[in-house]
Amino acid sequence: MNREHKCLALFSGGLDSILAVKHMEKLGYQVIPVFFETPFFEATSALKAAQSNAIDLKVINVMPEYLHVLKNPRYGYGKNMNPCVDCHGFMFRKAAEMMKEYGADFLISGEVLGQRPKSQRKDSMNAVAKLSGVKDLLVRPLCQRFLSDTLPIREGWVDKAELLDIQGRGRYRQIELAREYGVEEFQSPAGGCKLTDIKYSRKLKDLLEHDQINDKNIKYLNYGRHFRLNDNTRLVVGRNMAENEHLSLMPVGELVVKAVDYHGPLGIICKDGEIDNTEIEMAARIVLRYNNKVDGISEVGWGKNFALNNIIKLEKYTPEEVEDLMIK
Ligand code: SF4
Repeated sequence: MNREHKCLALFSGGLDSILAVKHMEKLGYQVIPVFFETPFFEATSALKAAQSNAIDLKVINVMPEYLHVLKNPRYGYGKNMNPCVDCHGFMFRKAAEMMKEYGADFLISGEVLGQRPKSQRKDSMNAVAKLSGVKDLLVRPLCQRFLSDTLPIREGWVDKAELLDIQGRGRYRQIELAREYGVEEFQSPAGGCKLTDIKYSRKLKDLLEHDQINDKNIKYLNYGRHFRLNDNTRLVVGRNMAENEHLSLMPVGELVVKAVDYHGPLGIICKDGEIDNTEIEMAARIVLRYNNKVDGISEVGWGKNFALNNIIKLEKYTPEEVEDLMIK
């Protein structure tokens, strides 16, 4: 068979995507693996997995386009804020847009039929194909034997008999293949996607509901406890020294609150626009609440750019009062 047709591969860094690439390469095809990066799924681990498996990975940033998928997924969310079916459809569509640039003739991905409850059922895989708008160009090397023939197969660019018939949640076949292809380093399934994390998702959902998604607020999602003071204002409080340090490195101009006489958590008030006294007082009482050394009333410094030269004296919130404000 002539193997002159090139394919573009959707690559996540997970074992299945590595195996799909390796299998097609072993058959003699030129494969161009791409990783679509968002702040919710960064490329670091995928790059590591690619590097240790001699895969030349291209990383493409797809924000802010991806926000449309996240805000309004046609097929809904998984357990958390992960819109897996729409996300896959979007990524195939992006990959299809890149085909011409890279001289690719078809697309591949490492999906395995029946492996994930929502995104890898046959109907979901059909939905992905439909959403992508490039249904006829998709080949799934690990399970294509169970799927309808697409153009690359009908045209004889790819021989279906050389593709695989892996299905179900068991990982035995994949482990065997990994041994055969010498794959040792890979990312756990969906391991890199923050949208599958319950706590991260709750904070993100709150941002979406208040229409406050922007680069800065998305960065804050990685750190701290989050509190909603009112519809316009949130507070982020560091949970430990490392988080306080990360928060200290966030953009200048933020209004910071911190107990004056004691080491302890740092709070950053997030709001577009003027921050009023009530908000500062609420933030200060929350910060005191998470400072174990403070007993009752204490002084809190606040100001912009870590110049905490405004001082207020307040009583810390009770656990119940804080509970009502926490985003959880
Ligand atoms: S786990 Fe995350 S990156 Fe993967 S398909 Fe779902 S939403 Fe997209």
